[in-house]
Amino acid sequence: MEGEAGERVDLTLLRRHLGAILAVFLCAAGLPLAAPPAAAAPGVPRVSDIRAWTNEIYTRVAIDTGDEVSWQANTLHADPARGLPPRIFIDIRGAGIRDEILRKPVEVRNGLLRQVRAGRFDRDTVRVVIDLERESTYRVFALPGPFRIIVDIDGEGAIPNLPTGPEAAAPSGPVAAVPSPEDPAPPSVIPPSVESPRAAASHPAPTRKHRVRVMIDPGHGGKDSGAIGPTGLKEKDVVLAIGRKIREKLSGSGEFDVRMTRDEDVFIPLEERTAMANKGRADIFVSLHINASPNRRAEGFSTYVLSRGASNREDLELAARENGVPIRKLQGIKFIIDDMFTGARKNESLRLAKTVNDAVVRHVSTRYPGAQSIGLKQAPFYVLVGARMTAVLVEASFISNAREEARLRDPSCLDGIADGVVEAVRYYGQNGILAHSDY
Ligand SMILES: [Zn+2]
Repeated sequence: MEGEAGERVDLTLLRRHLGAILAVFLCAAGLPLAAPPAAAAPGVPRVSDIRAWTNEIYTRVAIDTGDEVSWQANTLHADPARGLPPRIFIDIRGAGIRDEILRKPVEVRNGLLRQVRAGRFDRDTVRVVIDLERESTYRVFALPGPFRIIVDIDGEGAIPNLPTGPEAAAPSGPVAAVPSPEDPAPPSVIPPSVESPRAAASHPAPTRKHRVRVMIDPGHGGKDSGAIGPTGLKEKDVVLAIGRKIREKLSGSGEFDVRMTRDEDVFIPLEERTAMANKGRADIFVSLHINASPNRRAEGFSTYVLSRGASNREDLELAARENGVPIRKLQGIKFIIDDMFTGARKNESLRLAKTVNDAVVRHVSTRYPGAQSIGLKQAPFYVLVGARMTAVLVEASFISNAREEARLRDPSCLDGIADGVVEAVRYYGQNGILAHSDY
């Protein structure tokens, strides 16, 4: 029975904070405790998991619903009189929720976040509440295929006042205040006016006290093979081999702290890869991929940085394929990309991407004369969205091109690609460009 146990825990959580208001809420909503769960209906999306990656200055929370849902995010100030911390809450309409999530809040308590809890707000709204230790800037966006809502919380960007515009006018009461029936339809992304102002500009110039941290991200893995070449070579295997070579070459000097998002043939969701880099406070994020095209003659190396759009159809198709979604789904995160990926970090990423691409082509050319450079490019890759460091995505030739696929079977070609990335990262690390890093 999804309903009963869930409701009970839900109420316990709410009751702890609400007292009398809860009774009013229940009457108003006409919500019997044993109401049949919305999720029992076939085809109704439901919150199936809540995942979190966190350190004391950064947290990413992912709320999995599988199917697309409408949602709305908002904030509430701390309410010392009631013992309530500042909260971010996300209302998900027309969704059910898995029992285990109702029973078990995600406890964090790391100085930024206390816990993430969820409950049924009314018959068809699930509310996920993030209890913060202190008021923080945040961004919320959704990724499709499968649908998940991502909340990025920046503990360094503490702000004195949360936004108070009409759209941000959170219910003045505690978490379970009843929404007005006139509430506007939830937007698919939070309008810019609702977002907390970014505090990046106020960051003091930090001095780096640790070795340069590099997160290498071999794309795909496990059930996701990535692109497959004419003779069956799989992108996921090639990029893992390249990633291991980069780690080995870069780790030798002791100058770099090199990590990998995966070191085996496993599937890792895109948002988790970014979260791993952020949580690990990487200075540089390099996502490794191999391109593919229906045009079997397409060839060459390119390196991308994040942008809201792309300059041509091929790049959009590439991003859609790497994101695992149809092109029409790429639109949803435009505002978020514009807002998050600006200023020094974008310039640094552009610079690193150009350096990487030039070096990779040069190193591969010594083994395979005539290796082509497509150059520096931009496209909306999900794996780069929300990365807090200099971040690039390498498309190391076309696995769909028979000649390039054959090269990619040659370990010396993979060495060349790895040498190029290593040279570029070294150059980048040694030239003080990292002084503007978020850390
Ligand atoms: Zn790929």
